[in-house]
Amino acid sequence: MAETRFVYADNAATTKISDAVFDAMVPWLKEGYGNPSSIYRKGDEAARAVLKAREQVAAALGAEPREIYFTSGGSEADNWAIKGVAHTFAKKGKKHIITSVFEHHAVLHTCDALRKEGFEITYLPVDDMGLVSVEDVKNAIREDTALVSVMYANNEIGTVQPISEIGALCHERKVLFHTDAVQAVGNLPIDVKAQQIDLLSLSAHKIHGPKGVGALYCRRGILLPNLIDGGGQEGGHRAGTENVAGIVGLGVAITKAMETLPERAARLRALRDRLIDGLLPIERCRLNGDREKRLPGNVNISFEGVEGESLLLTLDAHGICASSGSACTSGSLDPSHVLLAIGLPAEVAHGSLRLSLSDDTSEEDVDYMLSVIPGVIEKLRAMSPLWERIISEK
Ligand SMILES: *Cc1c(COP(=O)(O)O)cnc(C)c1O
Repeated sequence: MAETRFVYADNAATTKISDAVFDAMVPWLKEGYGNPSSIYRKGDEAARAVLKAREQVAAALGAEPREIYFTSGGSEADNWAIKGVAHTFAKKGKKHIITSVFEHHAVLHTCDALRKEGFEITYLPVDDMGLVSVEDVKNAIREDTALVSVMYANNEIGTVQPISEIGALCHERKVLFHTDAVQAVGNLPIDVKAQQIDLLSLSAHKIHGPKGVGALYCRRGILLPNLIDGGGQEGGHRAGTENVAGIVGLGVAITKAMETLPERAARLRALRDRLIDGLLPIERCRLNGDREKRLPGNVNISFEGVEGESLLLTLDAHGICASSGSACTSGSLDPSHVLLAIGLPAEVAHGSLRLSLSDDTSEEDVDYMLSVIPGVIEKLRAMSPLWERIISEK
């Protein structure tokens, strides 16, 4: 066997913090410890760092700084957007929300919680390519619809949704539109005004920033009730002393990602396509999600007759970090709700592998994965009663 190499190919779960982000954060963890709400200079300097990051996040999205609210991450932004709009519009008798079946759990479980409170939720299907249909959104909108929430790009199969079309439709029908753009930010162009997005969630740790910080873009004029009450931070809308270092890190991470987007995306796409083309010749496997309308760094392939957990553990022994679903579902044996939604039988969904690439992924990493994975699949199948059954039924 060739020498083992360490390859981190689980960037959809989290990314390594970049040197530029780390270096920008350190001063705010050390001598820049002032509270941004304090009026003396030590506080003001922290407040100015937060303001700069707010301008950076706004610029990356085509928004205004006052439309950006810092949160503890993507999950909080999703909760705030959806619960906030739901509770505001419930007072006007609008208690219907439209989302899709393959959202991140931060959206799905938030909608489930609202359903238990008496809201009505429509879960749009996705087709076998992993795409939501604009026509379905159109047909689902009713008089009492308060919000449409459809993710920008899926975290498991990487498919990119028709966000501009949904934005235009919602605008025309006067329904608010939220998108979970945690996977899209830094990987796809975004312009909240041109795309008519009213609310957008993002997270720093998926774009080489720190964990525990994110943001909600909320279009000017939309007033959401607070999710977290307390002090007057974030214009009185989201209490809690600012995570200054984290917010600075987010500002740098999003700026770097958006500045170099075309070159980075082209490089990632080439690596992704080489990986896909190198793996697809393996017998009885399939690419999950549309081949073109997908994130530049996402590969998701199902191998029949292979058990996902064993695959991940064997790859780990070869130094490769990957995922068989989303990080939140690993550890559970339920097949991924995303793979079931695109019509995979549960046993095929179980044998799925997600390799998610980033700026840290090299050509050599891809070569190494291509040299290891086919042999691992063959070895696992040789020991699998399921595979034996599959080939005997041929
Ligand atoms: C990671 C992720 C989230 C959650 O973000 P956190 O910052 O980890 O809370 C939400 N949605 C999608 C699509 C994600 O990939």
